[in-house]
Amino acid sequence: MRILTGLGLLLAALVIGVGLELNPRVKERVEIRPAGEYVRVYRHATGEVEVLPLEEYVVGVVAAEMPALFPLEALKAQAVAARTYILRRILAGGVSNNPHPGADICDDPRHGQAYLSRVELKRKWGVLGYYRHYFKVRQAVRETAGFVITYNGQLIDPVYHASCGGRTENAGDVWQVDVPYLKSVPCPYDCYPKVVETRSFSVAEVQKALFLVQGVTAATSSANKGLRITLADKTATGRAREIVVNGRSFPATLVRERLNLKSTRLTWTINGDRVTFTTVGHGHGVGLCQYGAKGMAEHGYDFRQILKHYFTGVKIVRY
Ligand SMILES: [Zn+2]
Ligand SMILES: [Zn+2]
Repeated sequence: MRILTGLGLLLAALVIGVGLELNPRVKERVEIRPAGEYVRVYRHATGEVEVLPLEEYVVGVVAAEMPALFPLEALKAQAVAARTYILRRILAGGVSNNPHPGADICDDPRHGQAYLSRVELKRKWGVLGYYRHYFKVRQAVRETAGFVITYNGQLIDPVYHASCGGRTENAGDVWQVDVPYLKSVPCPYDCYPKVVETRSFSVAEVQKALFLVQGVTAATSSANKGLRITLADKTATGRAREIVVNGRSFPATLVRERLNLKSTRLTWTINGDRVTFTTVGHGHGVGLCQYGAKGMAEHGYDFRQILKHYFTGVKIVRY
C-alpha cells in the first residue's frame, strides 16, 4: 500500500511536470503554431528573444519606422510593407547566416526593420502622445490586417526609404540586381522637410574615411596632394554611381556610407581644405518613398494606390 502511494505520488509529480511542459505560457509551445502567426524578435538591448503575435509586431514596426503624425493612408501603406517584409522572411525559412539564431528578426533597422515595444513607445512619445499615436498606428495596422504585397504571386521585398528627392531609383543601380517591381518612378508629392542638405569635411577627414589612412592630418594631406574628386558614372535617374577620388574609384553608395551622407543624389565643391557635399533626399531611393507616401496620402490617394505607385506591377492581396 505504502509502495503504491509512493508510486501514485511519483505519477502525480510526472503528470504535473508534463502539465507544466505543456503550459501555453512556455515559449516552446509557440514554435508549433503556423508559420507567420507569431514573430520571434531578438531585442538588442536585452539580448532576449520576444515572441509576439504578428499584428502586434507590425504595430511596433510602423511606430518605429514612420512618424505617427503621418496621414493614416501612409501609415497603412507602411503597415502592409512591414507585414510583407517579415512574412517573406519567415516563409522563406529565415535569412542565411542569421545573426540571431532562434529569432526571425531583430529590432535593428540595419539588420531588417526597426521595432519598438509599447514601453519604449511610451518613453518616446510620453504618456499623452502614446495614447494618441499608438491607437492611430494600431488603426492603420487593423484596417490593413492580413494584407501583403505580391508580384507574380510571390511576396515582394518591400524596401523603403525616407525621401527620394523627387524620383525613386532602380534597384539595379543601387544593389547591382535588377528587380522587376523596384523600378524608378516619379515622386511628385515628396514633402521631405529638409530635402537639400550640405555637409562639410576637411580634406583629411574625407581621405581618412575613404582610404582609411591612419594619422593623416589636414596639414600633411593637403601639403601632399590635396583632393581631386570626379564623377565617373551616374545612374539613369541622375544619382552618382561611381566617384573617383585621387585616382581611385569608389561606388557612390560606399562614399555615402563612409561619409554618412544622406543620399547618392549628391554634388560637391572643394574650397581649400574644405569639401562640401550637397545631397538631395534621404536614403537609398529604392521602393516606397515615405515622404512621397505622406504627400500622396495628403492628396487623397489610399494605401493601395500608394503601394502600387512605388512598387511596379504588384498586387495587394490578403495573406
Ligand atoms: Zn540584429
Ligand atoms: Zn520621394
